[in-house]
Amino acid sequence: MPPIAFHKGEYIPLEQASVGVMTHALHYGTAVFEGIRGNWNSEEELSYIFRMRDHYERMLRGCALMHLKLPYSVDELCDITVEMVERCGYTEDIYIRPLAYKSTERVATLNLHTLDDGFTVFAIPFGAYMDLEAAAHCCTSSWRRPEDTMIPPGTKISGGYVNNILAKSDAVAAGFDEAILLNQAGFVCEGTGENLFILRNGKLATPPLDDNILPGITRSTVMDIAYNEMRLEIEERHILRSELYIADELFLTGTAAHLTPVGKVDNRSIGDGNMGPVTRALQTLYFDIVRGRNPKYRHWCTPASPRLVKA
Ligand code: PMP
Repeated sequence: MPPIAFHKGEYIPLEQASVGVMTHALHYGTAVFEGIRGNWNSEEELSYIFRMRDHYERMLRGCALMHLKLPYSVDELCDITVEMVERCGYTEDIYIRPLAYKSTERVATLNLHTLDDGFTVFAIPFGAYMDLEAAAHCCTSSWRRPEDTMIPPGTKISGGYVNNILAKSDAVAAGFDEAILLNQAGFVCEGTGENLFILRNGKLATPPLDDNILPGITRSTVMDIAYNEMRLEIEERHILRSELYIADELFLTGTAAHLTPVGKVDNRSIGDGNMGPVTRALQTLYFDIVRGRNPKYRHWCTPASPRLVKA
């Protein structure tokens, strides 16, 4: 079955979903995207799309910032996405990529108000983004996370990702798995596609929203389950770079990265350099939840059944 995209108001084969070279978003990053996971549940033979509404609500906040108006409500976006996933017929983990973008094919303008808006959503098969068992080696990046007064960091505005991409590329070129960005004040912010948690003295800490982080949906999921299932105390507070080095445990959270352990930062071991026991316990709880195996959290999971015969 060829993968299907919803593009320009229609379900079409993904390979035919394209835009012209003069499209505004291609030149200036005038788009807002999301990354949503569909987690394959082999017993039930369906995909559970995780916290889809929350992703679309965040996307529409980005659209409001970027003067992007879509003709769809959050409910309609969710229905379109389920239909698209079902038509694709994947029977494995997938990554869903909605993109709202300035679609006018005109480049010599920087005024958003004169441009039309487009929406595309498609899905690709997607396994692990980072190693979920071997703890990652991270560096602190010399790139800083943009301030809200530069490019608002609280939604996924495409142009803003140049910052993340520079940091990730330089980290990988230097032999690290991932970069950790600081904000302008020098406090720890997040990874290039993940939020960050440390465990110190039995308490979890994660940077607050006004430290220029993306308000991650996995971050909020982990905060919920850490408190409700493990009674862990969680602080949202500034984190110093030097605290990373002396954390008992450190992990990253994100739709793509799930809950990824970190074993080294700037060549200093975190704990014994392997995944710590609290990280492991949280990861186990988290995986059950995102695959729809924990009834208490099933409301976060939208089922999509692969269609064997295309309608
Ligand atoms: N920070 C950044 C910069 C990201 O791109 C992502 C991935 N969306 C995250 C954090 C994690 O957010 P979420 O858990 O909503 O995927």
